[in-house]
Amino acid sequence: ELTDITTLLHSRIRDVADYPEPGVMFKDITPLLADPVAFTALTDAFAGIAERTGATKVVGLEARGFILGAPVAVRAGLGFIPVRKAGKLPGATLGQAYDLEYGSAEIEVHAEDLSADDRVLIVDDVLATGGTAEASIQLIHRAGAQVAGVAVLMELGFLDGRPRLEAALGGAPLEAL
Ligand code: AMP
Repeated sequence: ELTDITTLLHSRIRDVADYPEPGVMFKDITPLLADPVAFTALTDAFAGIAERTGATKVVGLEARGFILGAPVAVRAGLGFIPVRKAGKLPGATLGQAYDLEYGSAEIEVHAEDLSADDRVLIVDDVLATGGTAEASIQLIHRAGAQVAGVAVLMELGFLDGRPRLEAALGGAPLEAL
């Protein structure tokens, strides 16, 4: 029996009101991770995007992008690269700071993980303001590599992450399942 993937994935995301703070509707993907049919369908869909975009590496954004991105890399036969919050990677890193609503944050990648002939697919669970993904794009470009695209499970359209990312992507696709 064929199942509509969007319906399946949507049914496995739990909305948690006022978490981690009042006014935020948190999109909890743990029910999806616990369902092997849904998790496999998601992994296959992301791997298809990796193949269609000619990606040579998968970058996962800490922390849920690690859980979602690593099986995509394995399924697509590509290497996996973690983009981490600053101070977590032991080797020589490239860092990129970006603004949050209050204050700022910084992400890092191991410089040796990316080279000029890489095309990177960025994977994460939720696209909200797009700040994290935009900083990742900048990091990958500064490493000399190309961005094949951004693939997310869902986007929160009212936060206008898409136009922000499309400007940074310069024609590479942003796919939200
Ligand atoms: P942003 O940089 O604003 O696009 O935020 C993206 C990051 O924050 C992603 O790594 C998401 O996992 C997380 N995030 C933001 N908003 C939500 C939300 N409503 N539910 C779950 N995760 C979120």
